[in-house]
Amino acid sequence: MAPDARRMTPVAPTTLAGTGMTVSAAAVTHNTRYFASRTAAAVMAVVKADGYGHGAATVARAALAGGATWLGVTSLAEALDLRTAGLSAPILSWLNPVQIPVETAVRARVDLAVSSLSQLRWCGAGQRWSAPVRVHLHLDTGLARDGAPPAEWAQLCAEAAALEREGRVSVVGIMSHMSHADEPSHPANAVARARFANALDIAHGAGLTPLHRHLAATSAAAGDPASHHTLVRIGAGLVGIDLSGASAGSLVRAMTVTAPVLMTRSVARGTPVGYGGQWHAPATTTLATVQVGYADGVPRVAGGRAFVAIHGRRCRLVGRVSMDQIVVDATGTAVSPGDVATVWGPGVSGEPTIDEWAQWSGTIPHEIVTGVSHRMRRAVSSAAAGAAR
Ligand SMILES: *Cc1c(COP(=O)(O)O)cnc(C)c1O
Repeated sequence: MAPDARRMTPVAPTTLAGTGMTVSAAAVTHNTRYFASRTAAAVMAVVKADGYGHGAATVARAALAGGATWLGVTSLAEALDLRTAGLSAPILSWLNPVQIPVETAVRARVDLAVSSLSQLRWCGAGQRWSAPVRVHLHLDTGLARDGAPPAEWAQLCAEAAALEREGRVSVVGIMSHMSHADEPSHPANAVARARFANALDIAHGAGLTPLHRHLAATSAAAGDPASHHTLVRIGAGLVGIDLSGASAGSLVRAMTVTAPVLMTRSVARGTPVGYGGQWHAPATTTLATVQVGYADGVPRVAGGRAFVAIHGRRCRLVGRVSMDQIVVDATGTAVSPGDVATVWGPGVSGEPTIDEWAQWSGTIPHEIVTGVSHRMRRAVSSAAAGAAR
């Protein structure tokens, strides 16, 4: 093999016996099929933030194999990365600063969400691009974040319709995003659906006939069919996360993080462990040092609360999480240097899940997976993973 080719061949973490993350493409495909089978709507695979930390192109390909037909990201840069990776499905980008390079989006066939008159005018009113700019008008239905304020909606629709008649823009979609979808019984969900329906009426009244109307993300796609319309945008669910519980038992978590045990030792009662000696062995204790730390994405705040699994047995983190290593209490576990600790995974062989890590860290699993750092070696497995608990 030529040296250049060897350099370009991805090396699986296990080959290096080092710290690494394995993404199950089969899990993503399985999860996508679950959502596609529960709706008559098309499925957009949301792969922002590098596919929720799992690798945007990896997740995109696996989701397209499972029935997704659209890709969604938050920026034009993310969209262009997908095009560079060879993905040709329609892509929507929804956080687009005014003065975004529109011609670049047009040439890369990237649809742009538009939430304000200034964005719309930038896309459509000045210069003519090589083709009409494909836009999705984005209404706020309760987040007060990135959608257009309802008071501006009628004018946004009217101006978009005028620009469409001039051949400057093509209104492909009308979209919004729900604020309380992970609490299925919250009254804000019905309010959002009603506001969206009203916004569609206004758009139709202005003469717009968008191909797609889309409101639901993972939780609403799993549990709120009235929100589906023609397209559902699934991000977290692709990688096995659904905080609403509506898909409980049906999704498979796609990420596994493992790290090698570097050394083991037996310490006497009272031995302090880690920076600041925050933890003292309460009795004779077997400690294992594991090569993973906060610079890899292990939340430092979870020190003393979290567990890893070694040979399927849970070992609690003791002392502070360091940048590159943790120490775990492996008393009663037959552990030797070179053994593999599973930091998190699908949760089928005793290892903790990202949901547990989120609890130990006072956050949501989304932040755990997107927090995996650049240093982590990555591999993709196509083997099927077990079902989530
Ligand atoms: C992130 C995001 C999604 C995907 O949400 P999930 O709950 O992760 O499926 C969908 N739509 C918008 C506007 C988003 O920002």
